[in-house]
Amino acid sequence: MEKIIISSNLTQYRLIETLDRVTYYTSSFLYHHKGQGVLIDSGYGRLGQFIKDDLEQSKIILNAIVITHYHKDHAEGSTVFNEIPIIASDQYEDTFYKCQNVCTQQLKIPNVLVKDKYFLTVDTSRIEIFKTPGHTKCGLSVLINNEYLYVSDNLLEDINNKIIVPYLDASSNPYDHYKTIYNYQNLKFHTLLLTHGPIKENVNLTHEFGERLFYLETFIKSKFSCNIEDCLLTNIENYSMTAIHKINVRNAKKHVSIQPTSFFEPMECITKEI
Ligand SMILES: [Zn+2]
Repeated sequence: MEKIIISSNLTQYRLIETLDRVTYYTSSFLYHHKGQGVLIDSGYGRLGQFIKDDLEQSKIILNAIVITHYHKDHAEGSTVFNEIPIIASDQYEDTFYKCQNVCTQQLKIPNVLVKDKYFLTVDTSRIEIFKTPGHTKCGLSVLINNEYLYVSDNLLEDINNKIIVPYLDASSNPYDHYKTIYNYQNLKFHTLLLTHGPIKENVNLTHEFGERLFYLETFIKSKFSCNIEDCLLTNIENYSMTAIHKINVRNAKKHVSIQPTSFFEPMECITKEI
């Protein structure tokens, strides 16, 4: 486990893990000022303990923990903290109880439920927490001072900077995922933060978001039946963990019956490179 100082106010805590021969980071972020801080995701239990020990040493008191969705690698670490308010989506329940089944410690019911947007301040800094369903139904993202955008697992990447295709869990809706990525394009920030991926400064948004939008648009238009190659803008060898596509097909066919809503506005067609 390691601690990385991104700026005087922002710290990343991360570990490296490997699944199906793909290696990637799993991270939490701390935004702090004058001894007060907000923890954004908490990692597995062991990462949570690592963070707690470091905060005690650094004399930083947490005002809140934001859980961007209830998967073990984001929520379990929160169980090591006492009496810290937890902020989560008002859609948290389904994934909360599934997550509880795989966590060794008892998860705490969130204290603050985000209906649409929720604002926090740390000194003069403004932290905007807003709903971004996609990877899960209960997804949240965090925008700090229009400088840092934390997208949680709505964008995924391995340690070699290869894109991992969007991953729709059993609670997800691909239309929501599409809209969430589409809306990220309208935000102002200079650094993109991923739970599972490198820190990306001055990123090429057309590339970062366009790849995922193309995947999701093709997936939706095919009624969740397309081959993975049809959903990718470049050769499949440029992507990581492509087996996720089969999970997406299975989950979407099983759980998603609703048709495009006002949430879904088809974008201008992205041209695929040949
Ligand atoms: Zn994750």
